[in-house]
Amino acid sequence: MGEGLTLTLATEEAARCLLCFDAPCSQACPAGTDPGSFIRKLHFRNVTGAIRTIKKNNPFGWTCGVVCPTARLCELACSRTAIDKPIQIGKIQRFLVEHGWAVGFSPIKKAEIKKDKVAIIGSGPAGLTCARELALNGYDVTVFEKKEKAGGNLRYGIPTFRLSEKGLDREIEEITSLGVTVKTETPIEGKDGLTKLKEEGFKAVFLSPGLWSPVRLGIEGSDLNGVLSATDFLGAMRTHEASDVENLVRDKVVAVIGGGSVAMDAAMGAKKLGAKDVYVLYRRSYTEMPAEEKEKIQALNDGIHFFILTQPVKYSGKGSLESIVCRRTRLGDPDDSGRRRPEEIQGSEFEMPFDVAIEALATEPDTGLRELADLTWDNKTITVSDANLQTSLPWVYAGGDIVRGPALVVEAVADGKKAAEAIAQHLEGKGE
Ligand SMILES: Cc1cc2nc3c(=O)[nH]c(=O)nc-3n(C[C@H](O)[C@H](O)[C@H](O)COP(=O)(O)OP(=O)(O)OC[C@H]3O[C@@H](n4cnc5c(N)ncnc54)[C@H](O)[C@@H]3O)c2cc1C
Ligand code: SF4
Repeated sequence: MGEGLTLTLATEEAARCLLCFDAPCSQACPAGTDPGSFIRKLHFRNVTGAIRTIKKNNPFGWTCGVVCPTARLCELACSRTAIDKPIQIGKIQRFLVEHGWAVGFSPIKKAEIKKDKVAIIGSGPAGLTCARELALNGYDVTVFEKKEKAGGNLRYGIPTFRLSEKGLDREIEEITSLGVTVKTETPIEGKDGLTKLKEEGFKAVFLSPGLWSPVRLGIEGSDLNGVLSATDFLGAMRTHEASDVENLVRDKVVAVIGGGSVAMDAAMGAKKLGAKDVYVLYRRSYTEMPAEEKEKIQALNDGIHFFILTQPVKYSGKGSLESIVCRRTRLGDPDDSGRRRPEEIQGSEFEMPFDVAIEALATEPDTGLRELADLTWDNKTITVSDANLQTSLPWVYAGGDIVRGPALVVEAVADGKKAAEAIAQHLEGKGE
């Protein structure tokens, strides 16, 4: 932490703010963090008020300040752009939360817990946000988490070189200190998973288990040593297996397959662990890569090589990966995603030596989740009411990636807030 703005720089930046009426930046934040208000407060030197606004609206205000793609959210909407460049909203937000920590200012106070028991499944940003909002409203909240530590993708996905463990721990501690119980290594699974919670007296459930089952390429040689998913690679970097993955990639030639943000994290992670060379293999063109522009530039600056219009078709090796056979692609007509479809060029095969292949294609729900209850699914996501995130079972709500598909931290926070409000209404007999 700490490589962001100083108080002087943050105040100078806030002085550039046009103090817009109906601030477009605030309207562009999915979680309602309200940058228009906290920047206005900082502008008028009300530093604690600014910190309070962030923390009241977003329990992951620091995390979002660090990892939000602000260039396509609040900063894209910023009116100051018409004059010169947008206000650095993400950096100001991060600075303010860190400043609050540095001076020992905690704006959120614990409420008396005296209402019904609510269970949350999954301790990612959606689950923990919902937990905090309900605890502040007096509900007795327990978060059940499958993994060893809380945080979801903030801990086991986004690497520490982008999001420090110290800051994440601090934001999670702020939530648990409000009386939220987090039970780690306690998965809620199986056909009787939800029934048991009901029997234990939980009156409502918020399902926020994310998407943790990696989609694999499934080509010949996928079982060779050295071929793994980005979920496993990035997750292992945060556990006792960290030295195993380091040994796996150190001084090796690594291929990362995919063009999204996760691929960029895996590629940069492998490079930071000492890989000799890292190649991103992607089947469409550079402009079609789903990763943020900033991430692609960062990866290129880190010395990662991009092999675009390239489709791996076979892993080769004796026991361990030795090479990847690829085929060149060309772009055809747009597909359902609006991006031009990659078409393999027959006869264009070429083979490149690689020691490690990390597949960063996509993730989907764990298969066990479908067993949990008779919920309505839309292919790979749980169907909920747009109005209140209620599932087909009236006492079960869902949000975050399990509803949206792969999305953003700030959107998970938004869902956690919305579900908490709906659950409270439901339990107070005001909702459906
Ligand atoms: C590598 C990577 C980089 C990313 N980078 C960014 C970024 O820079 N900016 C950004 O905004 N977003 C980023 N994202 C996306 C963001 O992290 C997710 O959108 C967000 O974490 C989703 O939150 P969630 O609460 O829905 O689920 P998750 O964060 O996935 O958390 C779900 C939790 O539920 C637990 N769980 C699952 N099943 C069970 C069960 N049966 N019982 C109990 N617990 C269970 C899981 O172990 C997990 O801890 C990134 C994602 C990845 C993978
Ligand atoms: S849109 Fe930009 S200029 Fe307007 S209030 Fe927000 S940060 Fe300030």
